[in-house]
Amino acid sequence: MSTKDYGFDTAQIHAGYNADEHNYSVSPPIYQTAAYDFKNVQNAKDLFTFKELGCVYARVGNQTAAILEERIKALDGASAALAVSSGMSAISYTLLSLTEGGGAILTTPYLYGGTVDDFKKTFPRFNIRIDTAKNIETPSELEKEIKPDTKAIFIESISNPNGFLLDVEAIADVAHRNGIPLVVDNTVATPYLFNPLKHGADIIVYSATKALSGHGNVIAGLIEESGRFDWNNGKFPQFSKKYWTLRDENNKPRSFLEVFPDAPLCFQIRRHYLAYLGSTLSALDAYLVLIGLETLSERVAKQTKNAEKIARFLAENEHVKWVRYASLKNSPHKKLAEKYFPKGVGGLLAFGFKGTQLQREKFIDNIALFHYHVNIGDVRSLLVNSPQTTHGELEPNEKITADIPENLIRLSLGLEDPKDLIEDLTQAFNKAFA
Ligand SMILES: *Cc1c(COP(=O)(O)O)cnc(C)c1O
Repeated sequence: MSTKDYGFDTAQIHAGYNADEHNYSVSPPIYQTAAYDFKNVQNAKDLFTFKELGCVYARVGNQTAAILEERIKALDGASAALAVSSGMSAISYTLLSLTEGGGAILTTPYLYGGTVDDFKKTFPRFNIRIDTAKNIETPSELEKEIKPDTKAIFIESISNPNGFLLDVEAIADVAHRNGIPLVVDNTVATPYLFNPLKHGADIIVYSATKALSGHGNVIAGLIEESGRFDWNNGKFPQFSKKYWTLRDENNKPRSFLEVFPDAPLCFQIRRHYLAYLGSTLSALDAYLVLIGLETLSERVAKQTKNAEKIARFLAENEHVKWVRYASLKNSPHKKLAEKYFPKGVGGLLAFGFKGTQLQREKFIDNIALFHYHVNIGDVRSLLVNSPQTTHGELEPNEKITADIPENLIRLSLGLEDPKDLIEDLTQAFNKAFA
């Protein structure tokens, strides 16, 4: 039985790993080494001319990360995957690679705060423009916002912190009509709830720090590509340019598309960005992500159930102005939730606190079971005042565009008993309004 035939729950535990190829170790080994011996001179030659693929020097990959790459590839049905040391490096490397030589990325106002700040500060310094679309919710109007130098559209499948959804298929159509790829940050959704590649996306990026690994104990990122995008359309010369480092055994320089026709992006990032900027995922961190991934479906299903209960509880609470959770009855994203998220919309939700700033702060200070910090997707339930923390980089007018009002509180539901979570919120509300 090949990995291809495995169901999701089986693949998250077994895909990409054969114990008999790793000294019969049941749990994937942590390959704690800086480099790998060549078997002989011919083997070195084969590795350097890509006749054989394998690890050489751990700055460009290690065996534990390679298992993780195979596993995520199987879960998303990607043609290639690359592990990196954070979600931010996954995003930055992907978009830097796509805009080599200049150009622009078209994106949405609904993004993780670190991404917004990266787009505002890092990319312009490399002469790359980030355009924020005005019409991301009406894809028929989006076409006009694509410029001749636009190299990709970048969106989040479930946005952080609001849980907003977008019509991914319609946005992918707009991208493809203009010869550019759609890049989806699928961090909040995880491969369990949503597969962007099945809905037209060409590239996926993850912060594996969040629900993907799920235990709040590692910073990690992943990049994947579908293998279906036509990189030969003239907009992406970086993939058809010939490099000496990609030479064949007769010393003939080749391009990424010649050597890796279905994985030019991941290999280009590995060979140029991992090799020279670093941000490689260490073997130990890759191991932690792999162990977390083994229970992904179980965790995200429970987090979703808990979030649904808490969303309904909050929707009826007198101290709550509004709740943003796409599967709620009155959510403006309900239709998209039904179309794209049959298993639910995950463990993240936001609500508007009805009260003064002082009461809001008192509420947070009195939370006892929820952890108060800037992470999501953990087995523990977390709560944070996003506008002042995770999205504190946004200037006042940017918060308005991103629809992140000052009274927003973000919850990331964990795996606890929902009654304990509701009791904790209730006692904190009581103290805030005492
Ligand atoms: C956390 C997060 C990131 C950044 O990931 P790190 O692993 O913290 O670098 C990117 N996108 C989203 C949606 C996130 O929630």
